[in-house]
Amino acid sequence: MTKTLFTQIRDREIEADIVYEDDDIMAFRDINPQAPLHVLVCPKEPIPTVNDLEPGQAELVGRLFLVARDLAVEHGYGEEGYRLVVNTNAGAGQTVFHLHLHLLAGRRFTWPPG
Ligand code: 5GP
Repeated sequence: MTKTLFTQIRDREIEADIVYEDDDIMAFRDINPQAPLHVLVCPKEPIPTVNDLEPGQAELVGRLFLVARDLAVEHGYGEEGYRLVVNTNAGAGQTVFHLHLHLLAGRRFTWPPG
């Protein structure tokens, strides 16, 4: 099976600025940042999209949020605010089919999103 891009980052086959890692989760800076802080938080084992999540993965998904929150706070954006985004499938802009949270912070965000 072909490895996802983020699995290649996990296995150090592709270089990335990894800012957090534990047994199940990793986070690294986006190569094309859309805000001063733009980090991708993902499970180490690939899950293609939110559509593929199973009930047994609920704790893992919750931990993705906690890691993103901790990174936002560590970088000083807890009070000012930050945005968490999960694109699901191509119509919503997903390009890497390995579930990930975008953590974006450090500028004003508009609503509705583009
Ligand atoms: P999606 O479009 O799937 O929601 O998000 C994929 C993200 O991965 C994009 O924001 C894109 O800039 C980022 N990305 C694509 N290729 C690489 C890469 O090789 N390294 C890193 N760090 N990020 C990447």
